[in-house]
Amino acid sequence: MQDSYDIVVIGSGLGGMTAANTLARSGFKVLLCEQHFQLGGLAAWFRRPGGLIFDVSLHGFPVGMIKSCRRYWTKEIADRIVQLKNIKFDNPMFSLTTTFNREDFTELLVNKFNVPRENVVAFFDHARSMNFTDDLTLTARDLFEQHFPGRKDVVRLLMEPITYANGSTLDDPAVSYGIVFSNFMSKGVFTFSGGTDQLIELMKAEMLKNGVDISMRTKAVGIDVDESDGKRKVSSVMLATPDGKKIVKTRAVVSNGNLLTTIFDMVGGFHFDPNFIQQAKSVRVNNSSTQVYIGMAEGDMLDEDVCGDLLFTSVAPEFDTDMLLSRNITSRTYSFYYPKTRPGVNRCAIVASSNANFADWNNLSPERYKESKQDLINTTLDALEKYVPNIHQRAIYTEAATPKTFQRYTLHLAGASFGTKFEGLDVSRHLPDQIAGLYHTGSVGIIMSGWLGAVNYGVIVSNDVAAALG
Ligand SMILES: Cc1cc2nc3c(=O)[nH]c(=O)nc-3n(C[C@H](O)[C@H](O)[C@H](O)COP(=O)(O)OP(=O)(O)OC[C@H]3O[C@@H](n4cnc5c(N)ncnc54)[C@H](O)[C@@H]3O)c2cc1C
Repeated sequence: MQDSYDIVVIGSGLGGMTAANTLARSGFKVLLCEQHFQLGGLAAWFRRPGGLIFDVSLHGFPVGMIKSCRRYWTKEIADRIVQLKNIKFDNPMFSLTTTFNREDFTELLVNKFNVPRENVVAFFDHARSMNFTDDLTLTARDLFEQHFPGRKDVVRLLMEPITYANGSTLDDPAVSYGIVFSNFMSKGVFTFSGGTDQLIELMKAEMLKNGVDISMRTKAVGIDVDESDGKRKVSSVMLATPDGKKIVKTRAVVSNGNLLTTIFDMVGGFHFDPNFIQQAKSVRVNNSSTQVYIGMAEGDMLDEDVCGDLLFTSVAPEFDTDMLLSRNITSRTYSFYYPKTRPGVNRCAIVASSNANFADWNNLSPERYKESKQDLINTTLDALEKYVPNIHQRAIYTEAATPKTFQRYTLHLAGASFGTKFEGLDVSRHLPDQIAGLYHTGSVGIIMSGWLGAVNYGVIVSNDVAAALG
């Protein structure tokens, strides 16, 4: 680590790494600091003894990731992105298999749900025309009511996977639904062949090639603001490293940490205009998740026809966001990993994910917390029996993650899986108007979250930084 940089990027999530790589490629001197011992943020994986490896957030992303990776990372990364063609739904309202793209959804809505074709076409066109500068008063609920009045089954098909993908609800602005839904609908759901570990390894190699200095186990504890000439501008970052505290001078900071932590903890609210702080205080963090990781024995193959690649299940009679978040889990999304998605590994793995509230897990005593995690594992295996017979006996390894786990590893407030609600985007975008050289990138405002959203926001912000630094 040197004493001064053009830009310090705080946090190595997909947004932070993309910003660091893009800026270094443009010739800036960049330091990337990460408090964890592993790069990637929520793009995480972990290994367990006996050759087990689990992906935390590699369940599926839109096709746009291919273009973004080719342009801002490498052709090799882009070429390893492959489609997941076998997406399944199973709930009391319907059971179906789809490639999760516009053509297939249109046929399903027309032939299975008996919706007039012109309504389906109008809905898709409306969703696709949405832009994040649109009117925000139209909610997702209004959008569905406009095109499919009274059709709770249709709403469930269209909304449940997106709620899972970015935490948005029927009461969020329709635009936050429309953009993400349309991104998926253009070609379907994609994944990175080889797993998160290999993707992050390739990204690291590319950053090093482009001259990014990477400092692991390095937490940014303060961003200093110089107000000496009457204007506020970033001057340095205070870092806590394994070798002690270090101050690094810089012209700009791109924080990939939580938006609110950046403002209130790293910088300090007193450096901003009071009305901006008011606006920031009204930003809501998004919900969190629980996950159960299930390892299968070598050679014990899952039935792809039954399980598919991604399986959205629910036993709730209707789609209901409160129920999706409830500790009494009724909806689970399973990712089934086969040797084809991790070539060279002759075993399968399962990751079951549910949306969750931080408070349901944070207020438990250590004993209750441990019991609750075991209960989460047991009830998940019970629910999985329907798709993977004898899973209690066949699972050779299980482990659970809770909102507290996500908070611990990423420092996201309340373990938020998808940054902030929609109002966070405006606050994130206006940081440099408050303090010259202060930027935020990464999961925010629903539409900038997810793998594609985070990468693309990293590019948008690095363009802003490059333009400002000249
Ligand atoms: C359970 C789960 C499943 C998901 N599934 C999918 C999916 O299938 N598809 C999809 O597209 N998206 C999915 N996502 C969302 C996606 O993973 C995230 O939106 C995306 O990876 C976030 O990237 P980011 O740039 O916002 O950074 P993050 O991943 O949030 O990383 C932020 C980084 O900043 C570091 N940091 C924070 N504070 C500091 C500090 N003070 N100093 C130094 N470092 C700091 C953290 O350690 C972390 O590494 C999922 C998320 C979760 C939780």
